[in-house]
Amino acid sequence: MHALSPHRIVFEEPIVRTHVGLTRFPDRCPICGLRATKKKRIDATPKEPPWAKPPTGRRLTTIQRIRLGLKPVTFIVPFCEEHVDIDSGRGRMRVAATYFFGLATSILIIAIMFVGSDLWLGRGVPFWAYPFLGIYALCFAAFVLTYRPSELESSVKVIGFDVNRDHVFLQFKDKTYTDEFLLLNKSNAELVSWIVRV
Ligand SMILES: [Zn+2]
Repeated sequence: MHALSPHRIVFEEPIVRTHVGLTRFPDRCPICGLRATKKKRIDATPKEPPWAKPPTGRRLTTIQRIRLGLKPVTFIVPFCEEHVDIDSGRGRMRVAATYFFGLATSILIIAIMFVGSDLWLGRGVPFWAYPFLGIYALCFAAFVLTYRPSELESSVKVIGFDVNRDHVFLQFKDKTYTDEFLLLNKSNAELVSWIVRV
């Protein structure tokens, strides 16, 4: 039954547990603290429970997700003029980085076979192997860098949902913002230092 065992995560800095429907965000930018004039959508989708996963390993269809109550949740978070757009183009960058890393990996597999046969025949490492390894390392670095959470993503991070999916766990980078958030959501939010994620 180990697939059903809950996943417990402990946080050094307490995070916020808040009601999905009642949550309000402070009118300040969570990155710089200035007065917010713009708004940004932050989407979060509850993870499917292990017992609901199709045996084929594929993801659930939209209809199956809705039936299980795994509706995506959208938060409208105020940001300042300067920071609301800092992530534009990041999605495309991630797609491109994934593509080039995938391409470089398939070339790497072929390259290893060529290098292997050259070594086998006693011809030594071919001249192109080193520059290729350099290019491969660059693709890998770009892939890792674009997938790191951005400044915007780490300012308001959705950690997960609780068992009933009516509460969500949020982590804010700025402590003052966290305090203000708690004050604003006095009746429906609290600090927690560990969670069982579903
Ligand atoms: Zn800002």
